[in-house]
Amino acid sequence: MLDGITPRGWLAAGIVAVTAMTAYALSGDWQVATVSLAGGLVALLAASQMREEREAEAAALARETAVPGPAIEVAIDAIIEPVLLLEGTRVALANRAARTLLGDHVAGEDVRTAIRHPAAVAYLAELANGKAQPPIELVGLGGLSQRWEMRASALDGHRRLVQLIDRTDSHAAEKMRVDFVANASHELRTPLASIIGYVETLADEAGEDPDIRARFLRIVLDEAKRIERLVEDLMSLSRIEADKFRPPSDTVDLGELIDDVAAALAGAHNGRGRDITLHVTPGLPMLTGDAVQLSQLLHNLIGNAMKYGRPGTPIRVEAAPAAAGMVRLVVADQGDGIAADHLPRLTERFYRVDAGRSRSLGGTGLGLAIVKHVVERHRGRLDIASIVGEGTRVTVMLRAADPAVILS
Ligand code: ADP
Repeated sequence: MLDGITPRGWLAAGIVAVTAMTAYALSGDWQVATVSLAGGLVALLAASQMREEREAEAAALARETAVPGPAIEVAIDAIIEPVLLLEGTRVALANRAARTLLGDHVAGEDVRTAIRHPAAVAYLAELANGKAQPPIELVGLGGLSQRWEMRASALDGHRRLVQLIDRTDSHAAEKMRVDFVANASHELRTPLASIIGYVETLADEAGEDPDIRARFLRIVLDEAKRIERLVEDLMSLSRIEADKFRPPSDTVDLGELIDDVAAALAGAHNGRGRDITLHVTPGLPMLTGDAVQLSQLLHNLIGNAMKYGRPGTPIRVEAAPAAAGMVRLVVADQGDGIAADHLPRLTERFYRVDAGRSRSLGGTGLGLAIVKHVVERHRGRLDIASIVGEGTRVTVMLRAADPAVILS
């Protein structure tokens, strides 16, 4: 029982004993001393009892209010974005993502050395002065094109949590959207300006000369058709994008679709339709797809081969079963081909190798972007191979409706 007595308890007991002895010395009466000793001990026991109760209550409260869970290191390591815990300006903790971005050495360093970025240094200096800061953008941290949003929140006293949120992708998507709107506006404005110019001239005296009038009206019609093609392609693109997460469900006979598209294009592009040769394996498996979108894909690929292939050379369209439940579609031409450095960018909206040539052939610059989106929606694969001076071969892999019909 004596084990539980604290040093302070022993001191109090000593004082009680000394008090009792003093009472005896002063009064010379044992009874007075005994009463004084008993009273002191009772007071001591009561005080000790109250203290134990208070401690038990405090422990119960601490248990109730404590946040259960792992240690803070484990918790911040589970966060995928870089996080730093600062004590003053020192990095007390850096989670795994922060160590990957800034280096393993950052823990323990001054945060302004750990994040070597001018904007971050200025931000953290203000933070150290105790000023609340709105988030800032850091460009080039970890890589030239990388963008981070940096934000800090005060925890307690001088501890702060600094978070870096990766904004690289959202910035790229926003830039793509802005560029797309700018390009689309430019593509629409050019033929529109031309139409307005010719119509104004026709309204003047030039409109009275029948030859000039006929020529100008033809140009106006061509430009209006160019706008129409552009608007149609823009609408197709937005429809395909809107359907992106809705898998296609038609049962499509690709061979039949190829026949239809080849027939529809027979008279297009200066009679190049007669150079189309079809090589469709008999009994080609059916596809699960979107018939309208696959027809558009064929129009765009065969149309490009007709436009950019050399006049008089064959345009070969093949469809055959491939391994792993896929059907392979190939459209190959013998044209000037495309230099390798352009290949990765061909499916970007409005990307053209030769803008003048594309426009003069009626191109919108959206054909291959549409093809790419159709292939993605069909969970297929697209490959464009080209040799300058020899020609271009576009391969599209599409999923058969019943993969079991194709043996690998
Ligand atoms: P466009 O409407 O300009 O044809 P596309 O998106 O269909 O747009 O194609 C993008 C660019 O890729 C074209 O402008 C052209 O420069 C190039 N291209 C596409 N297909 C071929 C091909 N079969 N042969 C050579 N160049 C091609």
